[in-house]
Amino acid sequence: MVDLIPSSDTVMQILKRTGAFREGHFVYPNGKHSPYYFQMPLAFRYYDTARVLAVALSRKFRVDRDISSQLPKVSIISPSSGGIPVAFGVRDALSAEQIYWAEQEGDKRRFRQYINKGEVNPCIMVDDIIRSGHAIEETEALVKELGAPVIGCGAIVRFTAATDKLSAVPIRSLVEFDAQMYDEGEDCSDCKKDVPVEHVRF
Ligand SMILES: [Zn+2]
Repeated sequence: MVDLIPSSDTVMQILKRTGAFREGHFVYPNGKHSPYYFQMPLAFRYYDTARVLAVALSRKFRVDRDISSQLPKVSIISPSSGGIPVAFGVRDALSAEQIYWAEQEGDKRRFRQYINKGEVNPCIMVDDIIRSGHAIEETEALVKELGAPVIGCGAIVRFTAATDKLSAVPIRSLVEFDAQMYDEGEDCSDCKKDVPVEHVRF
């Protein structure tokens, strides 16, 4: 089963081919500069690609006996809209019973579904990309308020500067990526070469 998980290189090729991974001189909303930008929804616009990525991630959970023994009474949870296609794909591959997703409303993150305490199965948190880990940490707090344990967490891509654990579980990913984020100006090699910048959204 483990052999069926595509390598990090293979996943990066998919992300390049679909336009989800770009190289250039990017400025993120937090002011940081990076030569790399991921726009993950571009990979998830193709059904076949979305399926390959979600199934691959699901296998990282399936091999964990603590997780597989609790299936199908598991909920798959996305912290934001970007993770929704990942959550549906992973849910499908694992035949998990529930799916939930959260949204940012003003400065607060909430679940899109109105849920009561005790209704949420033990959960696996998934996202398309984990840049800092803030979104999954905020969602973890929501899940805990609802009384559900986090039994797994993963993303298609995780920046190596981001958190690598959630609750007591490791964050699994198909690609561990060093985004080479620079605080504005001085350290950015593209700025030194006067390469025009492109401002991007998260
Ligand atoms: Zn720069």
